Amino acid sequence: MTTATVAAKSAKQPKPLPAPNSDFYEVYETLSTEELATVKKVRAFMEAKVAPVITKYWVDDAFPFELLPGVKELGIGGLGMQGYGCAGGSVALLGFVLMEFARIDPSFATFFGVHDGLAMGSIYIDGSEEQKQKWLPPMARLEKIGCFGLTEPLVGSGASGGLTTTAKRDGDSWVLNGEKRWIGNAPWCDISVIWARDLADNQVKGFIVENKTTPGFSVEKIQNKIALKVVQNGHITLKDARVPEANRLQGGNSFRDTAKVLKMTRYAVAWMATGCAMGAYETALKYAQERLQFGRPIGSFQLVQDLLAKMISNITASQLHAEGKLTDAHAALGKEFATSKCRETVAWARELLGGNGIVADYKAARFFADAEALYSYEGTYQIQNLILGKAITGLSAFV
Ligand SMILES: Cc1cc2nc3c(=O)[nH]c(=O)nc-3n(C[C@H](O)[C@H](O)[C@H](O)COP(=O)(O)OP(=O)(O)OC[C@H]3O[C@@H](n4cnc5c(N)ncnc54)[C@H](O)[C@@H]3O)c2cc1C
Repeated sequence: MTTATVAAKSAKQPKPLPAPNSDFYEVYETLSTEELATVKKVRAFMEAKVAPVITKYWVDDAFPFELLPGVKELGIGGLGMQGYGCAGGSVALLGFVLMEFARIDPSFATFFGVHDGLAMGSIYIDGSEEQKQKWLPPMARLEKIGCFGLTEPLVGSGASGGLTTTAKRDGDSWVLNGEKRWIGNAPWCDISVIWARDLADNQVKGFIVENKTTPGFSVEKIQNKIALKVVQNGHITLKDARVPEANRLQGGNSFRDTAKVLKMTRYAVAWMATGCAMGAYETALKYAQERLQFGRPIGSFQLVQDLLAKMISNITASQLHAEGKLTDAHAALGKEFATSKCRETVAWARELLGGNGIVADYKAARFFADAEALYSYEGTYQIQNLILGKAITGLSAFV
């Protein structure tokens, strides 16, 4: 071939398009080599094992138990917690890992977030030394899976002052009565951290309840959800359920101690929402590069690029804000900002896919639906803004 023919041939080759990448500001580079290796390990697992099967589980409202051995092998149980067989690392590393989970499947991130952040986190933050030694190692190995029971059928946002589930001391044990609603993992897991109001002093206390061996504990799966369908949420009933004093979280003496756990997990949900938006954006960008209309990829149209530019802007802002100090108000800002930006981003992704955007097989629909739950759980958008409003004005608008 002459030089002229080679040049003519290469001139005809379209320039390869960049692969979708939602790390626009290269925030992953802020991680240490070791942390990055953990995040990459999780990404590889999510892409190879979870992505190919998860839509089917989502459509079927089912949890992928077949994937649990693979999660155990990742060695990330107890991430963000030190000692007691936990994986250690910073809370930010836990955030990155949850973001990776959610980038492929927000339900999977939620399952892990409930176990690691809410259930293990309650024991880590509010448990005695003895309780941490007893419960955290098997939970870190994912041999025992946990859930967190705070919300009730009639009490959601007002949980701080309004819990109706009661705890009554009786000798060396406590008797729990009441109902808990929406509890992630509850229909199948081993341990529930139940928050109840002590009838003696009216304070909220935490109890470790062993689901499968505690008489009076029962749980029913909540049916017909339209979001986070892989997560199994339960409606728990406690009818004279007896729990030994040894299972009362020794450091959980009022709702302030519950709030310490929620501070960490709200921060974690901000990361999950960012991951959910990343998954939707990458799906939409790939689609925009491949889908042809008017003889051209739709990604070449200005209005489509506007949607994509707004998506990556939201994602980048959410990735950056999630750093820094962590007070209740910081966690609230992170949660309200990232979940609201996520909600906006997944809607644009769904829109970009046109009709295919409402079909679960094209993934954008799954992210679109799941974002609704992230926006409302662990304290709604309004409640986060009220926490933030109180911090900046000094005036409480809700309690
Ligand atoms: C998928 C999913 C998983 C969940 N997992 C768990 C779990 O594992 N454990 C657990 O304990 N809970 C869980 N929850 C419960 C969740 O935390 C609650 O749904 C949430 O806190 C909101 O409570 P609610 O649904 O009762 O809404 P409500 O509190 O009834 O609120 C309804 C609306 O009123 C608004 N509102 C309420 N009070 C005010 C106010 N003072 N000012 C302005 N607006 C207000 C809210 O923002 C919201 O828009 C889960 C929920 C979902 C959907």
